[in-house]
Amino acid sequence: MGKYDFIVAELEALKAQGLYNLIRTIESAVDAWTVVDGRRVLNMCSNNYLGFANDPELKAAAIRAIEAYGVGPAAVRSIAGTLALHRELERKLAEFKGCEDAVTFQSGFCANLATIPLIAGPGAVIFTDELNHASIIDGCRLTKAERVIYPHRDVDFLAQALEERKNAPVKLIVTDGVFSMDGDLAPLPEIVELAERYEALVMVDDAHGEGVLGSHGRGIVDHFGLHGRVDIEVGTLSKAFGVMGGYVAGKREIVEYLRQRGRPFLFSSAATPADVAACIAAVDILMRSDARVQKLWENTRYFKARMAELGFDIGQSQTPITPVMLGEAHTAWEFSKRLFEEGVFAQAITYPTVPRGKARIRVMVSAVHTKEDLDFALEAFARVGRQLGVI
Ligand SMILES: *Cc1c(COP(=O)(O)O)cnc(C)c1O
Repeated sequence: MGKYDFIVAELEALKAQGLYNLIRTIESAVDAWTVVDGRRVLNMCSNNYLGFANDPELKAAAIRAIEAYGVGPAAVRSIAGTLALHRELERKLAEFKGCEDAVTFQSGFCANLATIPLIAGPGAVIFTDELNHASIIDGCRLTKAERVIYPHRDVDFLAQALEERKNAPVKLIVTDGVFSMDGDLAPLPEIVELAERYEALVMVDDAHGEGVLGSHGRGIVDHFGLHGRVDIEVGTLSKAFGVMGGYVAGKREIVEYLRQRGRPFLFSSAATPADVAACIAAVDILMRSDARVQKLWENTRYFKARMAELGFDIGQSQTPITPVMLGEAHTAWEFSKRLFEEGVFAQAITYPTVPRGKARIRVMVSAVHTKEDLDFALEAFARVGRQLGVI
């Protein structure tokens, strides 16, 4: 018996269940066409909604920042890591989101880990959608607050739960804005109304909404016209923004509290100058022009309509996220491997990222895809779908 036997057994079990991730290696910039495991393939699964990951303006800004500030701040934000660039990005994000202030973190994951335990101390109650992102779940696990996990998008359940706990001193409702695996939206207007009735705080994680929803990609709050009524907006700079990082935008007091006491802000080093400068360039481009967001939606409408015509089950998505539902994990991986042979990169997503039996390929449409690219993908999906008897 070796001391690692239990780990080896776990890994073998994952393989037997089809849950062992095939981690492919990218060997070029992330763009519409990307070199993956030695092959140039059409990239249909990055979160590069607007093509910022390889944008010349972002790259130039990153290079200039390295020349001016070097490669790393060598400190946490609160000790010696806050650069003028961080402050500039925070001001611009607040303006972009229409919020009083914003604070940046190393990632969206860190933003959730910073915020939830800080707001929901002992005695508080957190109301959280059952399909919320793993970083929200982990943020909740770091608190001593009571947790009410409500069924997906079920505002009646939420209303009842709030009524039963109306005397709790702090009530925090937290939800993904766009649910990352299905692409459906949180019922945010109803949630906000309930929150106002019960004096609860509302926190929305807009990771897949910004750059996508609302005017100029300002996100889900803008999409629903709820400016000033959502207390905390969490965002990521690692998806549509194409770089790396996260942030919280909202009321001045909350943002200031995060700067004083948010643990990833206090105990993990600041984002690099290159990353921050590239993010500033991304916000500048979005404030200047809506063209990329429009193109993203045009591509989304085209791709989804054709996929439905082909007979694929593409779920209930309301956004560019296009889940191609395949059921068992083995089927999803076989589908993904055959797509790769056809020159299309679209990875399978299985448990624990989605529930068991709901494995899928999550297609991510991007503004950098041309119509020819989308037709190429559609033909590959059609061929593999027929081979595997999915359509
Ligand atoms: C991707 C994602 C995150 C994590 O963002 P990172 O910047 O990649 O850490 C958080 N929340 C949701 C809903 C996400 O989809």
